[in-house]
Amino acid sequence: MALRNIREIGDPVLNKSCKEVKEMTDRTLELIDDMFDTMYEAQGVGLAASQVGILKRIVVIDVTGEDPVLLINPVMLESSGEQRGNEGCLSVPGKTGIVTRPNYVKIKAYDRELKPFEMEGEELLARAICHEMEHLDGHLYVEKVEGGLQDVVADDEEE
Ligand code: ZN
Repeated sequence: MALRNIREIGDPVLNKSCKEVKEMTDRTLELIDDMFDTMYEAQGVGLAASQVGILKRIVVIDVTGEDPVLLINPVMLESSGEQRGNEGCLSVPGKTGIVTRPNYVKIKAYDRELKPFEMEGEELLARAICHEMEHLDGHLYVEKVEGGLQDVVADDEEE
């Protein structure tokens, strides 16, 4: 396991579409483990493979720090409702912006053994799923920000 270098906005790899994972290999398993390590180290709630320069349809998410989710080849089945809130991205460091997302999503994806499963998510989890799935098609949340990007103010600078 190792940390991978997170690509930042302006890197062309972030605008490329990722390819489906058709077979599980040791190399891909290592990538998945590295993606979780890299996401936790960077204190993010989600990471797509393209963000570490690998064009595979793989996403890792953990919105609580205790609920790791791996999505391989995820497909949106349903979405409903609406939530408007701040979003950020490990590939756009120091910035945040308001994005409207569905409040509920239902997806199909594949696990580590490439077995299919369905999953539902609400609120932050739904937001993270939408955000990460867009990375797989080469899109960043900055395309959807309402009212422009803002600088993140660190906690210790607020007072
Ligand atoms: Zn992102």
